[in-house]
Amino acid sequence: MKVSFPYMGTTVVYKKLLELLGHDVIMPPKPSQRTINLGVKYSPEFACFPLKVIMGSYFEAIEKGAEVIITSGGHGPCRAGFYEQVHQRILKEEGLPAKFMVFNSMFRDFNNFYDNIITLKGKNSWLKVSRSLLLVYNMTKKLDKLEKQVQTIRAYEVKKGETTRAWEKIQDLFDRAYTKKELEGAYAEGKKLLDDIKLIEVPEEKKLRIGIVGEIYVVMESSINMKMEELLGNLGAEVERSQYLSQWITYNAIPSFINKTHETEILEKGGRYLPIQIGGHAKQTIGHIVDYSERGFDGVVHLMPFGCLPELVSQSIVPKITEELGIPVLTLAIDEQMGTANNTTRIEAFIDLIKGKRAKKIS
Ligand code: SF4
Repeated sequence: MKVSFPYMGTTVVYKKLLELLGHDVIMPPKPSQRTINLGVKYSPEFACFPLKVIMGSYFEAIEKGAEVIITSGGHGPCRAGFYEQVHQRILKEEGLPAKFMVFNSMFRDFNNFYDNIITLKGKNSWLKVSRSLLLVYNMTKKLDKLEKQVQTIRAYEVKKGETTRAWEKIQDLFDRAYTKKELEGAYAEGKKLLDDIKLIEVPEEKKLRIGIVGEIYVVMESSINMKMEELLGNLGAEVERSQYLSQWITYNAIPSFINKTHETEILEKGGRYLPIQIGGHAKQTIGHIVDYSERGFDGVVHLMPFGCLPELVSQSIVPKITEELGIPVLTLAIDEQMGTANNTTRIEAFIDLIKGKRAKKIS
């Protein structure tokens, strides 16, 4: 079967797992203006922005021949749980029916999870499935490790754009790795590429560190968030995202009663300001802002998709956190109308403000 999935962040890992299990993978194109236009045209106007972009991605994947869409589900008071029904209905109305395979948390609906695994397993042995899963999990961890290095050194590169080019090469290297040995080789080569980048020496007290928080899709997918990590890096700031794929997998693979992952800690920190789960990643957004403040970060950029109720609630809590903890937070609403020039100016002003605050503190 020809399978596809939503494009989000380091998509190479989803592709790899399906390829290792012998499926014919149709890579969705990286979201572009065309993707957004398609999504906006066919989605309900009031829908949250990720629903629209993913809608556009499905149109493009089906144009390329995709028959089955694999995606994650959702639960609680957030639209993610309805994405599949809405997307499927729109595609059907437009004469592009596709089968959907939705992965919900295995702890909520084990039968559905198991049925999906059996379908994907096909004629492969369980040993092959376990090995493929392990390889892809390790690949995700290694990619995240290198990406964290990218996000740190980009601020200090001598030749502008060198780190971004190296990161693109690294993703290609990982795309060609199908065995443990090839994965180790790709990691070593990728690490060397990053270690060889010439950096400007910056004294520790002058380094700026900015966290990026918000809804998972707009945080992870650079093509719809104005390449926020690159933008901040080019302005001289080290960046850390609140969401990394390996952390998301680890958190979701462990039952809550024994889950001691970083995400659990973040949720506890978020509970100080938002005691209940209100859907999406609102509680994590709050928890990460508290965490960045405790870890001495200089500021936080909060990405909020237009039409996202959970992030609207977290935005309303941000002023209280800023007042109590003193960490500057800039909230940006992301949608199809987002003007790059005006938001770039806001980010530049935000960085200037942080630099000014820092200089005042030092003096
Ligand atoms: S968290 Fe917000 S943007 Fe994401 S699916 Fe839910 S409502 Fe939509």
